[in-house]
Formats: sequence, C-alpha cells, structure tokens
Amino acid sequence: MELVLATHNAHKVAEVGAILANSVPGLNLLGYEGPEPVEDGVSFLENALIKARAAFEFTGRPAIADDSGLAVEVLGGAPGIFSARWSGTRDNQVNRQLLLAQLADVKPEHRAAAFVCTIAYVDGENEVSFTGIWPGSIAAQEQGEHGFGYDPIFIPEGFEVTAAQMDPEVKNLLSHRSLALEQLASYLGSIEN
Ligand code: IMP
Repeated sequence: MELVLATHNAHKVAEVGAILANSVPGLNLLGYEGPEPVEDGVSFLENALIKARAAFEFTGRPAIADDSGLAVEVLGGAPGIFSARWSGTRDNQVNRQLLLAQLADVKPEHRAAAFVCTIAYVDGENEVSFTGIWPGSIAAQEQGEHGFGYDPIFIPEGFEVTAAQMDPEVKNLLSHRSLALEQLASYLGSIEN
C-alpha cells in the first residue's frame, strides 16, 4: 500500500514509516514535494485535514497529515494550534520561557497540560482522523536535553521528570504522536484486508 505523508521533512517520513512498518506490512510511505497549503484551521483536526487533503489532491494517492501541540488547562487549551509560534517566533526556547512566565503564579496542582496529536487520513472517499493525548503538567523550570519544542517543561503523568529527561525511546512509546499512530496503523490494517 502506498501512502503519502504530507510533510517536506524526510526525517519525519523515515520515523513515521518505521513505526507504521511494524503493524502495516508492505506499506510504502512517501514524502510530499507539492505546495504547502495555508494552515488556517482553528483546531488540530482542521489543520491536519487541510494538509492531508492538499497532499491527496496533488498526488492522487491516499495521504496522511498530522498536527500537534501543547494544551494547557489554565490557559483554556493554549498554546494549542499556536504552539509552534506562541511567542511570535519559532524559537522553541523563547516559546517555553513565555509559557513559564505566563504560569509563574500558578500553583503545581493547577498546571495540568497535555500534548495532543491529530492525524488525518484522506483517500478521496474516506476522511478519518485519530487523536492521541499525552497528559501531564508544566514544570516550574526547564530540565533535560532530549526531544524538542516543549519537552523540557512537560512532565508526563506518572513521572517526576520532564519529557526532555526521558530516554527518547521511552518518550516515543508513550507520546501523543505514537498513540495517534497506533490508531492509524490499526485502521490501515483494517482497510488492507
Ligand atoms: P507541528 O505539528 O509540527 O505544527 O508542531 C507544533 C508544535 O507543537 C511544535 O513546534 C512544538 O512546539 C509542539 N510539539 C508538538 N509535539 C511535541 C512534542 O512531542 N514535544 C514537544 N513539543 C511538541
């Protein structure tokens, strides 16, 4: 089965392809070289659908796209879809520092947050989506060197360290992205048969 992943990031294609290969034998995950659509949706689902539809329309092949971010409860779900540019820049450290400053007076018990990842699948007949949620809380300060984005300030539920202090392989087993990918893999398995 051929499937296009709506990203120009070859690293992401290799990583997602490797995860899906375990559960979808014979899957050939392809990158996408076409135009990138404007992501003007107002939810993870809308943005994932915009990207998957664009890749399907350009390639004529079944396509998937993901959209992800961090949702902080006391901020009403922000930064949410604005996670990548929360401070107005794409600088991850500036984004993290802004979020920590916004939560400076918020007590530990009210710092609940979750990483969210939605994957959309589009093949011209079906539009299906899968969402993975990784609950946790926002740390008081940055800790850890692994990962990217908000990992150094996100403490997953059941842990006392940040996602950036975890072994990346452990993170990859538990994360919002892997939870959404697991659901996608079982869907792909079901339509193959
Ligand atoms: P996008 O899905 O590539 O648009 O990612 C949105 C933004 O969400 C990223 O730039 C990160 O700031 C944040 N994000 C998504 N997933 C993770 C994660 O696993 N760790 C840390 N930050 C994440």
